[in-house]
Amino acid sequence: MKIIVHGGAWAIPDNAVEDHLKGVTQAVKKGLKEKNALDAVEKAINTMENDPTFDAGYGSFLNANGEIELDAIIAENSNFGAVAGVSKVRNPISLAKKILRDNEVNFIICRGAEDYAEKNGVPLCDPKELIMERELKRWRRIKKENKKPEDFFHSTVGAVALDENGNIAAGTSTGGTPNKIPGRVGDSPLFGAGCYANSSVGISATGYGECIMRVLLSRTVAELYKKMELEQACKEALTVLKNIGGYGGVISIDVKGNFGYSFNTPRMAYAFNEGNKINSFI
Ligand code: ASP
Repeated sequence: MKIIVHGGAWAIPDNAVEDHLKGVTQAVKKGLKEKNALDAVEKAINTMENDPTFDAGYGSFLNANGEIELDAIIAENSNFGAVAGVSKVRNPISLAKKILRDNEVNFIICRGAEDYAEKNGVPLCDPKELIMERELKRWRRIKKENKKPEDFFHSTVGAVALDENGNIAAGTSTGGTPNKIPGRVGDSPLFGAGCYANSSVGISATGYGECIMRVLLSRTVAELYKKMELEQACKEALTVLKNIGGYGGVISIDVKGNFGYSFNTPRMAYAFNEGNKINSFI
């Protein structure tokens, strides 16, 4: 199994470095316990959804109404399952996987997604259980100061895995941006934007969603990869993003087992394995 994960691309401050490194390392460790790529991506992302270091699952940013709205996608072999705007699902990536596996529809939002979870045995929770005191404080401060939040640093998570059978899977899970307009959906759950996987490459992206979705960042990596090495494809895709004023990062794996990653933000938290050894960076 080869697996690479990210824990967001932003100006992660020095005092948050350790938690990010621990979080991404733990995610790779969990993913490595699985046999197939799809399960590895799910488990790696579950770990980060449950870790309040990241803007996914528990501890996510609140929207302008002070609520949590989560988005997630998981993809393999040019197919995907995705959810957006869910408030009662602790692990949206697991719901996305259920949708992919059921293979009836690809993308379900809001109440419909929560109903689907309930009917299909994906655990629901009280939305309040996902809200952290830290985020409530942040939200109150944003409201009081009535300005754009600048001090946020925790971020979206993603994973890409290649298993022994040559299957590639990729996934992304997020709480979106702080104080977002209720109902706003970024790039993260959009196939080709925040995530993409076909039979030769898988990608997960993070960063400023409005720009990432305009350039279909993940799909751009896959298209560039047809003409160049993966590492180079990641770099060039980031140039495409930068050209429209966008910032972010990507992680990827190809079917030959090469890792690719690139970012144009001050920092990105990421980790990958070399056999049983886990390398983590920020
Ligand atoms: N791309 C995410 C969004 O715009 C945010 C992030 O990656 O941190 O919702």
